[in-house]
Amino acid sequence: MGPVAPALESVADQFLRLLPEGWRLSESTIRRARPLVDAALKAGWATEQLRSELVRDMIGARSPGGVLVERLRALPAPPPAAPSATSACAEHPSVGRRGGLWGECAGCWANRQG
Ligand SMILES: [Zn+2]
Repeated sequence: MGPVAPALESVADQFLRLLPEGWRLSESTIRRARPLVDAALKAGWATEQLRSELVRDMIGARSPGGVLVERLRALPAPPPAAPSATSACAEHPSVGRRGGLWGECAGCWANRQG
């Protein structure tokens, strides 16, 4: 039995609702972006990799939601996972991950708390 669609969809939903500061998305943008995030996760993107890819160089974007959807549509193949650092966050390689759905890096989590 593989992963079931509803669980993956809820990961995509959480991903979109927990983007960094400045990336608050409207409900309509979340609805547009959710299947694209879902597809990216199925294609092998890790949530942290995907988030870094989508929000890079975007400080001050006038329409973050529109840019985000465009980036999702133009998303390349996922980067290969580093074989010796399967669970390390690229930004916080020395920090452990928290438990839970995403296994989010504790450093990234702390950043999100502001
Ligand atoms: Zn991190």
